Amino acid sequence: MEKLQESMYKLIVETSTNLPKDVRRAIQRAKEKESAGTRSAMALHTITNNIKMADDNISPICQDTGMPTFKIKTPVGVNQLVIKEAIYAAIEQATKDGKLRPNSVDSLFGNNSGNNLGAGTPVVKFEQWEKDYIDARLILKGGGCENKNIQYSLPCELEGLGKAGRDLDGIRKCLMHAVYQAQGQGCSAGVIGVGIGGDRTSGYELAKEQLFRSLDDENQIPELCQLEEYVMENANKLGIGTMGFGGETTLLGCKIGVYNRLPASFYVSVAYNCWAYRRLGVTISPETGEIAQWLYQEGDNTLQPAAAEAADVQEQREIVLQAPITEEQIRELRVGDVVTINGMMYTGRDAIHKHLTDNDCPVDLNGQVIYHCGPVVMKDSEGKYHIKAAGPTTSIREEPYQGDIMKKFGIRAVIGKGGMGAKTLAALQEHGGVYLNAIGGAAQYYAECIKEVEGVDFLEFGIPEAMWHLRVDGFKAVVTMDSHGNSLHADVDKTSLERLAQFKEPVFK
Ligand code: SF4
Repeated sequence: MEKLQESMYKLIVETSTNLPKDVRRAIQRAKEKESAGTRSAMALHTITNNIKMADDNISPICQDTGMPTFKIKTPVGVNQLVIKEAIYAAIEQATKDGKLRPNSVDSLFGNNSGNNLGAGTPVVKFEQWEKDYIDARLILKGGGCENKNIQYSLPCELEGLGKAGRDLDGIRKCLMHAVYQAQGQGCSAGVIGVGIGGDRTSGYELAKEQLFRSLDDENQIPELCQLEEYVMENANKLGIGTMGFGGETTLLGCKIGVYNRLPASFYVSVAYNCWAYRRLGVTISPETGEIAQWLYQEGDNTLQPAAAEAADVQEQREIVLQAPITEEQIRELRVGDVVTINGMMYTGRDAIHKHLTDNDCPVDLNGQVIYHCGPVVMKDSEGKYHIKAAGPTTSIREEPYQGDIMKKFGIRAVIGKGGMGAKTLAALQEHGGVYLNAIGGAAQYYAECIKEVEGVDFLEFGIPEAMWHLRVDGFKAVVTMDSHGNSLHADVDKTSLERLAQFKEPVFK
């Protein structure tokens, strides 16, 4: 049991901190396609640095360490209850050590269990097989990309593409649409796992299972192999790019599986995974509990540090801001500007936004910056907090509250990822505010910009949801919504929808 727990712990830590080689190679290919000096090239440069920092620090690649989902195959006669116990203990330890963020929240009352254990957490699925060793695989898929999963019931009408029927061409349209609807919100460039058929539940399970395939493998079903190649080629013509900044690579992988279906149902289920595609596996000896082999580690790690010039965004100006920020400074900013922030910023996610709608704030937010972020935080023996991972979370969830809160408290800038909607854009214009897009998943990169935790409020909401007072230095983000009614997100959405319409005509007869 002790060895088994140690093996599970190693699997969790490696999965959270060490991006698999096939994913690194896919990111390298994306970098090679992107022109130097663009926003997407800058984002890929940051992502590359972040991957390296996670390696060096043995720290989470992204602060959202997702829903731990294990798939375990065991020889007949192996006690699965013992394996489950070992996984639970390893999960608790990895959370304590800051390798996983406490992510298990009571759905009715909002309490965070604090140790990643709770009803339905983690997910552990067993299967028996004839082999004489244990095969244990783990995927850590975060909430931002999980929210971009989508399930289609054919036939259906798709925006930009028209009717999708119950055939291969209808499936093709669904997959093109799935990439379009995700935009940059799931931290593109992403990978889609697709389940054709099944029922609503097994279809999604099949889709997620595809994410355990290697990015370099080839589908054994010729029709699906052809469809995977088609989607890879054409989804990358949509121009959504890294983080939805516009660019050459929107998709890093497409993996499709198929189940039989009921005569009356035809589902196409899509599991969208961000670039921080954390899944690893090990084989384990049932006798000793020790790891015999690591999976997904074949081939080279070709991810190269980006050329220095890629870091400089030549498309736009670069501006340094020190919080508190004035309305005049904000009104000077335009979409595309790269902003470097020094001084204070305050984290705020779902619970804080809801709370501030009807209550006062314990700190003066006038002229301040709100960061949509749920960090990984460790407390040292002297009671001092340290930020271990701190990338942005998906901002659109705060759309119902954001504009009102900015006006109520005088907030001048909001940092997050994926952009916000029309209500916030109108508030930015009226009040004099700006939305800044940080690079999703770059949790190590941003953690290094945080020089000190000066305080915390609302810790009762749980670590990810608390309001952390952060002193930052050199925190870079791109203006994607300004106070003049411009939104890069709306522009990319519009042009990608126009491009999507080019794929309306049937391809697979
Ligand atoms: S990279 Fe983005 S989508 Fe993926 S887990 Fe991190 S924040 Fe979520």
